[in-house]
Parts: sequence; C-alpha cells; structure tokens
Amino acid sequence: MAKRKKIVMGNWKMNLTVPESTVLLEKLKKEMPGNVSSEVVLLPTFVDIYRAAEEAKGTKLLLGAQNVAEEEKGAYTGEVSILALKGFVKYVLVGHSERRNIFGENDKVVAKKAEIVVRHDMVPVICIGETLHEREDGLSKVVTLSQLEASCKHLTGEEIAESVIAYEPVWAIGTGQVCDEKEAEKMAADIRGLIHSLYGEKAAEKVRILYGGSVTGKSAKEMKAAKNIDGLLVGGASLDHKEFTAIVKNYSSEISVKKG
Ligand code: PEP
Repeated sequence: MAKRKKIVMGNWKMNLTVPESTVLLEKLKKEMPGNVSSEVVLLPTFVDIYRAAEEAKGTKLLLGAQNVAEEEKGAYTGEVSILALKGFVKYVLVGHSERRNIFGENDKVVAKKAEIVVRHDMVPVICIGETLHEREDGLSKVVTLSQLEASCKHLTGEEIAESVIAYEPVWAIGTGQVCDEKEAEKMAADIRGLIHSLYGEKAAEKVRILYGGSVTGKSAKEMKAAKNIDGLLVGGASLDHKEFTAIVKNYSSEISVKKG
C-alpha cells in the first residue's frame, strides 16, 4: 500500500474570537513539536483566517477553512468564496455534519463544494457519517457510503486520490462517545473499498481517510493501529492546546526535538 502522509486537524468551529484564537495559536506554536510525522492543520473561523495564516508563516502549522460557498463569485450575501480563501488555506471542509444537519446541506451541495475546492487547487475534506438513529437501524454503512458516492460525484479518480475523506459518525461528535478503533477501521476499509470500485486502485491507495468524533489524547493513540485511517479530525479537544498537542504527539510517529 502507498505511504500516505498523516494529518491531524483541529476544527475550532465557532468557538473562538480573534483575540482568543491568537492566544491559542501562540501556545500551539510554542508547544507543537517541530518534526512530527503528521501534517497539523488548524481550522479557524473565516474572519480569522487571514491573521492566522500570517501568524502560521514559517511554522509547520497549516490552515484549513471550515466551509466554502458552492459558487465561485457573485451576489451571495454572507457567503465566503473559494477565491477569497486562495493563498491562505490548503484544506477546506465540505459537508461537515453540522453543515448537513443544522444548515440543511445535502449531498448535491456538498458535491458542488468539493468540486469547486478541487478546481481551485485546494484539498477538500469531504465529511460523511451516520447519525445515531441510522446506526441504531443498522444503516451506518449504507448511509455513509451513499453520502460518499454522491458527495464525490463531480470528481475524477485523480482528484479523489488527492482528496481527504473524513468519517465522522454523528453520534460521536461532541458527545464524548468515541467510535472504537476496530469499528472506525472497518468503516475506513469500506470507504477505501468503495473508492476502489468506483475510481480504481490508484485512487483507493492514495486517498486519505480521517476519523473524527470526540478524539482525545488517549483515543488518538488507539487510532494509530487502524491501517486504513490516515488522520484525525478533532473538534472540542483542539481548543485546548495541551490536549491537541497530546493528540498530535500520540498519533504521530516521528517526534524528536521540540520547537521554541
Ligand atoms: C467535529 O465536529 O468534526 C468533531 C470531531 O468534533 P468533536 O471532536 O468535538 O467530537
């Protein structure tokens, strides 16, 4: 299997003001080891991206956006276009369950967003995963894989290969209930299997698959064993610099000198 670069992402959601995220980023810059094997990606609010990008310059920290408009430009009051993000972020989340469940984004919208991100040479992080209800009805795999297929439908195999899929069971998000490593690995293997049948072996080997849902330093260590999981998408715990740093350290394999 091809070697895939690991990623740990911290989604700050709508939790921090600009001064608060300035403090958090300062702490992370001091604490984060310089040579971990994973990419470390922070997802501030839109209003903070420009500043955070300036502050992260010269460090190993990368930036992502939590969302993007499905259109490139025009009369879409309140939206943020991919053009506005260009140059500041590498990754863009699309279809996070909060976007799907609170703001009514369906697979069609998510597919358009994934496409626009790719067309502008950024990397979409396509979020998929079942709700508690769907899990209890035994529909986890069906729901997750159908979201995957529909959300990726405008992408080519080469584009999928460069993309990131985040498996985030909704019942595990913000609940403290972590999906165990074996169950997450099984779903990740199914996701890779579907990519293989739809886009071929190369795409399946290259695409990176993340797990997200109540990750902590402890569960990060356990997730390391999952061979189809290439990274973690962290919400709540990414707001605490010590916990987030522990997650990165516990998940990544090569740590030596400390920065700062
Ligand atoms: C998320 O919302 O992507 C997430 C994983 O949140 P949490 O870690 O808080 O469950």
